[in-house]
Amino acid sequence: MAKGVCPECGAEIEIEDPVEKEIVECEECGVELEVSKVDGDEVEFEVAESEGEDWGE
Ligand SMILES: [Zn+2]
Repeated sequence: MAKGVCPECGAEIEIEDPVEKEIVECEECGVELEVSKVDGDEVEFEVAESEGEDWGE
């Protein structure tokens, strides 16, 4: 189990078998996050941008 911090709200997020570029949703604030870096059991997240993709309403 790896861990990271939501850049939006600061909540700790646990993720199993993280993969770079994977999209996860923060359970705390609901923002979509992209895994930007995986370093052992530490994960860095970036807020996933909605660049012309179907990102919902
Ligand atoms: Zn959050």
